[in-house]
Amino acid sequence: MDCLFCAINDKTIPATIVYEDDTVLAFRDIAPQAPTHILVIPKKHISTLNDIEQVDETLLGHMVHTAKKLAADEGLADNGYRLIMNCNADSGQTVFHIHLHIVGGHRLQMSLG
Ligand code: AMP
Repeated sequence: MDCLFCAINDKTIPATIVYEDDTVLAFRDIAPQAPTHILVIPKKHISTLNDIEQVDETLLGHMVHTAKKLAADEGLADNGYRLIMNCNADSGQTVFHIHLHIVGGHRLQMSLG
């Protein structure tokens, strides 16, 4: 399977990894949209949110819990941050391996343009 984020998980493509455990990996976005922009991915390949199943509930919860801890590590907890998951074309999803964006470090606009 030709998947960029699987290749980052396999370490065949480099990334600035900030956290890793048995089921998730987190690394800095290559084109940050805010002072902090980290992606949390499941190690398991799941193409889009449409493909998650009941068996993935714990994994998705672990992604959010990991994001919360990384946001705190980045000093974002008090001022706040945003978690984003895009699904398919209308959302602007460009990498078809689900990922949770952690963005923060300055005041974010609410544009959904
Ligand atoms: P999305 O639009 O939700 O699919 O987000 C994909 C994100 O992956 C974008 O924010 C990209 O900047 C980011 N991205 C693409 N290639 C890489 C890479 N090699 N390393 C880190 N982040 C990447």
